[in-house]
This record gives sequence, C-alpha cells and structure tokens, in this order.
Amino acid sequence: MKTDGQGAPEENSIDPDPYLSRARNVMRRPFTSLLAQGVKAFSYYTGWYPLWQQPDGPRPIILFYHKVQRRPVGTWGEEVLDLEAFKQHMAFLSREYEPIPLSELVAALQGKIPMPDRAVAITFDDGYRNNLRLAAPILRHYRVPATLFISTGLIGTNQWMWAYELEEIFHRYPLEAISASARHPLITRLCAQAMNSQVALVACVEYLKSVPHPKMLEVVCRIREQLPVELDEENQFLSWDEVRQLRSYGFEFGAHTESHPILIRQRLEDAERELVACCDTLERELGTRPKLFAYPNGDTSPAVTALVGRYFEAAVTTHPGVCSPSGNLLELPRVGAPRVVSDLAFQMERHLRQGGHALQAQAY
Ligand SMILES: [Zn+2]
Repeated sequence: MKTDGQGAPEENSIDPDPYLSRARNVMRRPFTSLLAQGVKAFSYYTGWYPLWQQPDGPRPIILFYHKVQRRPVGTWGEEVLDLEAFKQHMAFLSREYEPIPLSELVAALQGKIPMPDRAVAITFDDGYRNNLRLAAPILRHYRVPATLFISTGLIGTNQWMWAYELEEIFHRYPLEAISASARHPLITRLCAQAMNSQVALVACVEYLKSVPHPKMLEVVCRIREQLPVELDEENQFLSWDEVRQLRSYGFEFGAHTESHPILIRQRLEDAERELVACCDTLERELGTRPKLFAYPNGDTSPAVTALVGRYFEAAVTTHPGVCSPSGNLLELPRVGAPRVVSDLAFQMERHLRQGGHALQAQAY
C-alpha cells in the first residue's frame, strides 16, 4: 500500500473534537479533585468510612502499576509515583491487606485453595528496569509478592514505549515541528486546535490508540525520524538477566504480547502471532510457559478474550473492580494504583465495601 505520509482520504474527515475534549477532561481532573483528596486523606488517617458496609466475604483486588520513578515529578512537572510513594503503598498494603501472588488469587477464585479475607495481588505491566532497581527491594522488605506482565519485544532493547516517547517529544519540541514531521491531517489539526502541548499529546495518543498498530507505528516513526529524543533512565526496559533476577525477589511472570499492540485493533491472526511469539520467548528465557496474560491498554473483545483463553488460564484487564468466583477468569478486573496512599486506601475500601467505580490511571 502506498504510504506517502499525507494520510488516507478518510483521515481528512475524522472529527478532532472528541479527542480534544477527552484530553481536556484528563487535564482538568487534578484541579477538581482537591476536595475529594482531602476527604480521602481524612479517612486514611482516621480509618473513618462510616457510610459503607463491611464486606460479607472475601473480595480480592488486583492492583496494577507500570513505573516506579526515582524523580517525584514527571515530564510536565506533575507528581508521579516515586520511591517514597511506593514505599507508603507497600507499608499500607502489607499492614491492612494480605498480599498474595496473582497465581494464588486465581487458584483461590477457582476454588482450589481458600481465599484470604483481604487478598490483594500486585501487578506491573510492560517490564521497566525501575521495577527491579527501585520497586523490587521495597517489595522484598515488606514481603509483598508481585507479577510482571512482560512485552517481550521491548526487553533488552533501548526502545521507548511509544506513548512515553511521544510525551517526551511533545514536551521538547514545538507543536508546529511535530505537526510537520507527522505528515498526518488529523495530527496536524489536533496540534493546531489544542490549547497547549500537553492537551495535544493526550489527544494524539488517544487517536493513535484507536488506529491499527502498523498505522500508529508509521506515524510515530515519521515523528521520531525528525524529532529524536534520547531514552531516559525512567523509561528503560529490563534485560533478560534482570528479569531472571526479579525471580529472586519473589516476582512471577505473565505475558503482555510481543510488541504491545492493542489487540482489539488487530486482525485475530496477528493478535495470535503476538501471543505465541511472547509465550515462546518467555519459555525460552525463563524455562516455563506463562499461564497469566494482561491485555495491552486493558482492552479486549469477546473474540480476543476467546483467543486468549486458548493460551492462558487467566487474564487481566484495566476495568476497575473486585474479583468474584463467578466472574470471567479471562477478564479479571484490576484497579490502577493512584499515586497518593490515602487515595489508594480509599479506592480499595470503596471497592471492598461497595464494588464502586474508581478513577482510571493512565494505562499504556
Ligand atoms: Zn502495557
């Protein structure tokens, strides 16, 4: 197919407004949630959750993380989950909950072993080096087991996860330069109409997540060629030797595809190739075939779930909620861990007592 960089005709008719308004809403969230944060901090420090019922049985929760950063601020100066915040999370979870490996949580859901009353399983996605350097010693200190879902094609490379790479590019270069390098009509309109680089970034990432993986790669490659950014420490991936080191810290491993495509945008045969390649590499490097899977970006469909069921015992999404023995083991809910420990405590209590709905963490 011809790829002249000007985009297919249908790309000219895509409406940029939904992407821009979603991006503005994401940006607005921190400013409107200050009061809520105060209430959550009060509950955390006093243990006061008066309006909610105690749960009538085990309601296990799976948490997900990506990176634990050395610096407490992200690209835009925003607060991110750093070492200190992660330490507070693990101190809290080991004190108030019963952290168990995800494989045990799954076995308990299957009725093979008893489920602890306040079971929680910690998971990490993608395979960042900081999982070993920063998170693993803290997990070991608090005796908290964890599961890492690995995108095998990124391990041992100097590549970026594409969305974080775009974040760095949008922070470093003017929107006009990004627009010119992308050579894509909708990206140009999003860059022109966004109120600032951060909104443009979120809108462009949202759009690129909605297109097939090869199309996304094409656009990101064009931008990367013109506007390179050096991979920083926070975004480096593990090597295979480092993955094996994680085992000694009590980590278990699951699959997260080879190249991290959003599977619902793939042809099923391509999605299957991603699963098989990932499992083959994990088996070669770690000696066992994985039984657990995490959907990239948390997205699945009935057809993708059925495909995943042919290769795995259980799979996790990023739909927040508590796990139930009557739920689908191939679409287990997961709660995105918020940065502040009082927010985490509040979300967990709400899920336990209400099965409530939580704000989603950004998932790549
Ligand atoms: Zn991921």
